[in-house]
Amino acid sequence: MAQQAKKQVKKTRGAGPPVVSKSAAEAAAKGKTYPFVTDPGRAQNMRSNRRSDTKPELALRSALHGMGYRYRKDFRLDLPLRRVRPDIAFTARKVAVFVDGCFWHACPEHGSKPKSNEWYWSPKLLKNVERDRAADAALEQAGWTVVRLWEHVPVADAVAQVVAAVGEPRRDAKQTPDRL
Ligand SMILES: [Zn+2]
Repeated sequence: MAQQAKKQVKKTRGAGPPVVSKSAAEAAAKGKTYPFVTDPGRAQNMRSNRRSDTKPELALRSALHGMGYRYRKDFRLDLPLRRVRPDIAFTARKVAVFVDGCFWHACPEHGSKPKSNEWYWSPKLLKNVERDRAADAALEQAGWTVVRLWEHVPVADAVAQVVAAVGEPRRDAKQTPDRL
């Protein structure tokens, strides 16, 4: 199994992006069976599932930072209902921002169900969506405002939605000590 995983990774190296995610290869090496991803578009989606620093998220963060906003990135909140880790958190104003990958969070425009390996993907994607909704509920219950943005949203629109929720940046742009 480990051999097979290695071969599949190697075969694709050099010809565009690697199509097997590291975690899938590692899992395969440990003897767990994960489906291999052979579609480059899908692989792109898999990479954008990394916890932070996806391109759209990075663009949004740097735009906000440039406007004088200060925030916590990938900050863990221990809420009464559950632990949540928003991509961008304005802790003083209690606004949580998520930039959701179209594939992993099942965007209605681009999150079409994968045709292969449905036995694996459908329950997994469903679970992601359920977890998103549970996170929203936990945040709202704790008095947070939740802003969910699809990764396909143009950065200017994303900024506008965040500004609408957070308000204008503070004049001094100084982060007061975070209180949750
Ligand atoms: Zn989308």
